[in-house]
Amino acid sequence: MIRFPISRAPQLGKAIITVRAGTEDFAIHETLIRSSSEFFNGALRHEWKEATQRVVDLPGVSPSLFEAYSRWLYTGKVFSIQSSPEKEGETEEDVKRVAEWVSLLMSYALGERLLDAHYKDAIVDACIEVVVLEESVCWTPGIVCSVYSNTPPQSPLRDLLVDVAIWTASDDEMAQLSNCGYPVEFVVGLMAALSSLRQKGLKGKPPYKRDPCLYHEHKKTGMACHREKS
Ligand SMILES: [Zn+2]
Repeated sequence: MIRFPISRAPQLGKAIITVRAGTEDFAIHETLIRSSSEFFNGALRHEWKEATQRVVDLPGVSPSLFEAYSRWLYTGKVFSIQSSPEKEGETEEDVKRVAEWVSLLMSYALGERLLDAHYKDAIVDACIEVVVLEESVCWTPGIVCSVYSNTPPQSPLRDLLVDVAIWTASDDEMAQLSNCGYPVEFVVGLMAALSSLRQKGLKGKPPYKRDPCLYHEHKKTGMACHREKS
């Protein structure tokens, strides 16, 4: 479908602001970014210096990560799949898969920092797409630690990681949990989820295949799902 009601069109406005991510500047429509991100909405209120200077600095944010966010802002799509060079071995494919997975998790952390619930939900959908396609993903201690250090305790991304581990982990991977590098909250979350599954067993489809909205922020706030916008 290429036609949509005008009422569902993104509100761009005319004002442009500059976002400084690392060493690069991005020109973005102010109305668009403020309607999506609570962080930008606050930073561009009249009383703050960012509102008069028209520049918002994001120290420590990599330009490529912000560029991915701005692409989603304008298109509603997550451009994360790495293009394939002509010649490559399986190892390179694995490296690219892990790189995409890590970049999605970092994008979620950016959504957390920018207080953009729709972006986080869109990234969750991209993560679920990767999990369903690959039937397993990398959840080494380093990756799990970065998720837990970039999200609050009730984060749906933490729930997703726990469910992915339960439904996809091999026996060897489960045995690795004794590795003390994993966050305690992750191991506790796994035990709680496994305990509730003892009665039911792992039957049917994993919850992330049944209903991705289980891992969306709008479930908490009562907002419409971002998928209803696109
Ligand atoms: Zn949803």
